[in-house]
Amino acid sequence: MTKKYYDADADLSLIQGRKVAVIGYGSQGHAHALSLRDSGVDVRIGLAEGSKSRAKAEAEGLRVVTVAEAATEADLIMILVPDQVQAKVYNEDIAPNLKDGDAIFFAHGFNIRFGYIEAPSGVDVAMVAPKGPGHVVRREYEAGRGVPALIAVEKNESGQAKDLALAYAAGIGGTRAGVLETTFTEETETDLFGEQAVLCGGASHLVQAGFEVLTEAGYQPEIAYFEVLHELKLIVDLMVEGGLAKQRWSISDTAEFGDYVSGPRVITPQVKENMKAVLADIQDGTFAQRFMDDQASGAEEFKKLRAEEEAHPIEKTGRELRQMFSWLKDSDDDYTEGTAA
Ligand code: NDP
Ligand code: MG
Ligand code: MG
Repeated sequence: MTKKYYDADADLSLIQGRKVAVIGYGSQGHAHALSLRDSGVDVRIGLAEGSKSRAKAEAEGLRVVTVAEAATEADLIMILVPDQVQAKVYNEDIAPNLKDGDAIFFAHGFNIRFGYIEAPSGVDVAMVAPKGPGHVVRREYEAGRGVPALIAVEKNESGQAKDLALAYAAGIGGTRAGVLETTFTEETETDLFGEQAVLCGGASHLVQAGFEVLTEAGYQPEIAYFEVLHELKLIVDLMVEGGLAKQRWSISDTAEFGDYVSGPRVITPQVKENMKAVLADIQDGTFAQRFMDDQASGAEEFKKLRAEEEAHPIEKTGRELRQMFSWLKDSDDDYTEGTAA
């Protein structure tokens, strides 16, 4: 079993003794900044001039300065802007303001792993990656709990980088739940693979394919939506609670037998080969380069794919059906239906 770190393994005073800059105030940024502050840490927020997030951060009583000012003041800089803009923000506003003994922190290893950011000597590079969306990280912290997190050290110039990462994890509640140690390479490659092959890419396209098969066979789209999308959450909740075994224990014997005999007909050995090809493209940087090149040229491919997927018939069916789900209406996130494209 990999070693797990808890509150007792972390020295919160290490992070309380630093000046922390949280760069970006989005999903992760708001969660880290608010929880660090509540943990007694000296936090400032670095945002671009005219940033849309500025008002939100100030409404919470946080001090907002430019990214360059935040990087200058701070001796620990957590970079929480989207992965595709990190290198630009780093090169323009963070790197020129780094000094010996500083630490730069990440919540995902993408830019370090693929070489888009290279830190100078004398500067620690570490990761604290909560295994959950920012809103859950903050909600759990406020509830006195935490979301498990990964830590990793890429450069340990101070000799203290790991302890500092553990202290940071403690400051956002991670060590209440448990922290695992990984490397930038392992975190980045497995994170990209998980989201592409299983969690996002795999699941989204599995749902779409199931919806297409049922509606093309003449079944009502609303019924198809319930069977292939809506109920997925109930199944996933059971998996999270007790693994595949609990899920299979809870469903009917009919469903369980169907799982065993039909699952492998859908997820064939060829699908596993396809997954290996996806992993190879992640490992050799092909995926990263395709993503970053497209971002650099105005994200044309990204926007085209987003518009195509948003036009899939399951989205229209879902928008209408979800009007029936009163409990979805008071979701506290910023997402607005139908605005993705
Ligand atoms: P968000 O997309 O939520 O970050 C948005 C923030 O970044 C906003 O404050 C935005 O400002 C600011 N921003 C955007 N572009 C720029 C720019 N060019 N210059 C300066 N600021 C900019 O990011 P996430 O929280 O999703 O991701 C941050 C990091 O955390 C990433 O490395 C990600 O991989 C990682 N991560 C994310 C998770 C998640 O749950 N989302 C989970 C675990 C890790 P404005 O309001 O002005 O647009
Ligand atoms: Mg990811
Ligand atoms: Mg059913």
